[in-house]
Amino acid sequence: MSQSEQFASDNYSGVCPQAWKAMEAANRTDEPAYGEDSWTQRAADGLRSLFDTDCDVYFVFNGTAANSLALASIGQSFHSVICHELAHIETDECGGPEYASNGAKLLLGQGENGKLTPESIEHLVTKRTDIHYPKPKALSLTQATEVGTVYTPDELRAIRAVADKHRLNIHMDGARFANAVAALDVHPSEITWKAGVDVLCFSGTKNGLALGEAVVFFNRSLAEDFEWRCKQAGQLASKMRYISAPWCGLLEDDVWLQNARHANACAERLARGLEGLPGVRLRYPRQVNGVFVEMPEPVQAELRARGWRFYNFIGGSARLMCSWATSREQIDRFLADVQSLVGHPTI
Ligand SMILES: *Cc1c(COP(=O)(O)O)cnc(C)c1O
Repeated sequence: MSQSEQFASDNYSGVCPQAWKAMEAANRTDEPAYGEDSWTQRAADGLRSLFDTDCDVYFVFNGTAANSLALASIGQSFHSVICHELAHIETDECGGPEYASNGAKLLLGQGENGKLTPESIEHLVTKRTDIHYPKPKALSLTQATEVGTVYTPDELRAIRAVADKHRLNIHMDGARFANAVAALDVHPSEITWKAGVDVLCFSGTKNGLALGEAVVFFNRSLAEDFEWRCKQAGQLASKMRYISAPWCGLLEDDVWLQNARHANACAERLARGLEGLPGVRLRYPRQVNGVFVEMPEPVQAELRARGWRFYNFIGGSARLMCSWATSREQIDRFLADVQSLVGHPTI
């Protein structure tokens, strides 16, 4: 069985052809280092034009660095950041945000389907206001969420209203921002600066790059001295063009959006095929490129024995992720395997 028989993660996939081509083009001539090159200028301008606003753009290696440094730029070490209890910054970044900010604390909120609610935020901000508690300064939202759901523009505006009331800046972890834009069918500005997002970490990696995330400051005052923060943290690539040129490949002809639409459509096909099978139940509504599904343990074990790779998440449900590279045939092979296993008397 080939290595591509996986729904483990969208970051198992390789580099999409358009990004690869741009990287090759960037390799033809020498260019200034440390982001002073023409590709980085083009990619940053491309993002400004995509968001239709004059934002500040920086490129770093990965999502943990993007989130950690963006959050550090929002507050001081005695501040706190409100996020959902399932947020990647809490569960999967090894304390990176706390480390980068010299100790800012994450306050964990709740909400169905991986989404923070205005009530939960309000509760966390108001439960303590004394000097002995880290002062809430930022709100971190993951769009799309860790469980494959999206915040609608209305939900974002309701959250912004609470944030305004308590003077919180909003950070958006956009590891799957492209998938959220595709799912909601909105202009990227509608779910970022028009909804009051101050800084967005926009992932290229999960969309089809080898590496590279854009940190996009809509609130430009937060970006003051950000390049020094990146440099100190070891996040200023000297050959920056190898991060930024592939971004140009993604931005041209909206490849980023096509990649996301493809991944979302694959997950939709997968979810449709799984829904209604005996013993199989979707754990969360399928909205972007991931399907979270409860299946009997022996079925999961047999799928793995047949070579399928996927992770388990929250309470044992299987997380099936699709990417720009997922194929229809691969989905149908997986569905055929599941169909042959569920309801089987010996399983
Ligand atoms: C993948 C991911 C990131 C970034 O992870 P890195 O491995 O540090 O690049 C951030 N947030 C979410 C929700 C993710 O899924």
